[in-house]
Amino acid sequence: MNISIVIPIFNEEGNIPLLYERVVNTLQAKSLSFEIIFVNDGSKDNSLEKIIQLSSSDSRVKYIDLSRNFGHQIAVSAGLNNTQGQAVVIIDADLQDPPELINELYQKYKEGFEVVYAKRKSRKGENFLKLVTAKLFYKTLRNITSIDIPLDTGDFRIIDHKVVEELRKMPEPNKFLRGQISWIGFRQTFVEYDRQERASGKTGYTYRKMIKFALDGITSFSESPLKVATVMGFVVSFAAFFMLLYAFYSRLISKDYVPGWASLIISVLFLGGIQLLSLGIIGEYISRIMSNVRKRPLYIISKSNIESAK
Ligand code: UDP
Ligand code: MG
Repeated sequence: MNISIVIPIFNEEGNIPLLYERVVNTLQAKSLSFEIIFVNDGSKDNSLEKIIQLSSSDSRVKYIDLSRNFGHQIAVSAGLNNTQGQAVVIIDADLQDPPELINELYQKYKEGFEVVYAKRKSRKGENFLKLVTAKLFYKTLRNITSIDIPLDTGDFRIIDHKVVEELRKMPEPNKFLRGQISWIGFRQTFVEYDRQERASGKTGYTYRKMIKFALDGITSFSESPLKVATVMGFVVSFAAFFMLLYAFYSRLISKDYVPGWASLIISVLFLGGIQLLSLGIIGEYISRIMSNVRKRPLYIISKSNIESAK
C-alpha cells in the first residue's frame, strides 16, 4: 500500500462526505493504492454513523471508534498505530487542510524526504487571539528548546513509515506530535499552502485544550521553565540582600526610618508570588511525571473494522 491517510474526527458530520470525496479523487487521479483511517474521538453528532457507512461501501475506509474524547493528538496517535502504508498523511477533517495538497506532499516525499510538512502561508477564518497566541507560543517554544520545531505548521504532513515506527516506540501520554517528529529527524522539508476556513461545524480546540497542548509542548521538550524558578530565587535573594543593607543603614546610620509597613508588604507579596509561580512550574512537570508513571493505555477502542485494533 502506498499511502495511509489518518483523519481525527470530533463532531465533523458536516465535513465527512466532501472530505472523503476530495481525498479519494486526489489519490485516485494518481492511481495510488491507499487506505483512509478515520479515528472517531468521541463525537457527539452523527460522525461515527457517517464513517461506518463509508466503510461499508468502500473497503479502503477503516475506522477506529474511541470510547470517549481523548483529544486530537491521542486520536492521531491511535490512527498512526494502525497504519499499513509506506507513507502516512495526517490531515484535519474540517477541510482547513486542502486534500489536494497531498499531491505535492507526496511528490516531495518521492524525492527522498521522510517528512514533508505543510507550512501555512496564510491563515483564514481564525480569530485574532488565536493567531497572536499561536505565534507567541511557537516563537517561545523555539527559543527554549534545542529541537527545531517549524513555525506556522500544524500536523498536516506526510511521513515515511520509518518515522511512524519511531513514533510508535515513544510511549509518552502527553503527545506533542509535531515536536516528536522534529526530534526524530531524517530528511525533512515543507510545502507551502494557504490555509482555508473550516468548511462546516466549529473548532474542537477550546482554549482549555489549547493551553494544555501548549504546556505539553513546552514540558516535553524544555526544562527551561524549571530553571526560571532557580533564576528568580537568585534575583530575589540578591534584591533582598540590598534591602538588608538599606535597612541597616537607615536604622543605624541615617536613623531616618518609619515603621516599615510598605517594604514589608511589598516583599511579602513579591516573595509569595514567586514561590507560588515556582511551585506551579514544578507542579506542571510533576503532573506529567505522574501520568507517565501510571502507564495507563493512551486510549481505549470501542470498535473498529481493523483486525489488529479490535
Ligand atoms: N479533533 C479531535 N479531537 C478533539 C479536537 C479536535 O479529534 O478533541 C480533530 C478535529 O475533528 C479536526 C482536528 O482534530 O479534524 C483539528 O481540530 P480543529 O479543526 O477543531 O482545530 P483548529 O483547526 O481549530 O485548531
Ligand atoms: Mg480546524
